[in-house]
Amino acid sequence: MTDSQRSDVIAEQHVREVAEQITAPREGECLLCYACRQVRDFGCDGTLRWGTRWHGAQHRRPRSFVKRLQRQGGYCDCQVLMDVFRHYPDDDVTPHVCH
Ligand SMILES: [Zn+2]
Ligand SMILES: [Zn+2]
Repeated sequence: MTDSQRSDVIAEQHVREVAEQITAPREGECLLCYACRQVRDFGCDGTLRWGTRWHGAQHRRPRSFVKRLQRQGGYCDCQVLMDVFRHYPDDDVTPHVCH
């Protein structure tokens, strides 16, 4: 590997880490605030990518989380915002309110 290839790899890794950090849920942030922020900044890709990302960062992880969202009509992140949070608050989906 040449030096320039090596620095490309390092730069790529850095970009990935920064992307990880800016899309990570904030300390104490609830799903509602997080999903609003991510869908606003990065959009919805038709999956529950932000919901699962948020869920993965929680200490308390009800296993049925995704199924619960889907049962309430949340098959993607923007549907979660539009449909699921009409049922808000739901203490399993939203362990606490941060806003
Ligand atoms: Zn969507
Ligand atoms: Zn919140």
